[in-house]
Amino acid sequence: MSMNGVCRDVREFLRGLARELPEIFPAPRPVYRRYAPARRRRAALSAAERGQAKEIIRARVEHWAGLMNLQYNRICVKDQRTLWGSCSGKKNLNFNCRLAAAPPEALDYVVIHELCHLREMNHSKRFWALVRGTCPDYAARRKWLRNNAALLWNPVTLNAAAAPQAPAGYSYTLPQN
Ligand SMILES: [Zn+2]
Repeated sequence: MSMNGVCRDVREFLRGLARELPEIFPAPRPVYRRYAPARRRRAALSAAERGQAKEIIRARVEHWAGLMNLQYNRICVKDQRTLWGSCSGKKNLNFNCRLAAAPPEALDYVVIHELCHLREMNHSKRFWALVRGTCPDYAARRKWLRNNAALLWNPVTLNAAAAPQAPAGYSYTLPQN
């Protein structure tokens, strides 16, 4: 028997063992883990990238606030881990700078969502009616963020025209704001 044949047999034997004894041969970490938004996996953004992100987001907030005729106080853009955005009682808006790497539709959804909180500080039916009024397909945009959030943790370029597709079966859900 050739050396290759022996190797193949050994490999097959080990694969069989791994199937029989999963507690001894744990499954290898799936490839999609590299997209996991663990702190250590997040690509750091340079000060220039953060500044660029802030400008991209600020422009969308000004655009939508104008259209929706809403007044806000301050915009804060931070590199935060779990929140896409928030709106305070003092009408300060806060956004995750990673949104600048999302498709514009997804970024706009979060902007519209937070702006609607200037009217409704809750997630009531009235709030969602406001969101729907400005953004009828908000559910699809929200779903994109849910399913692809982790891609934004390692953006190749800010506001890339087409975000890379997540590997099949991958899904990650951020806590709802
Ligand atoms: Zn909200």
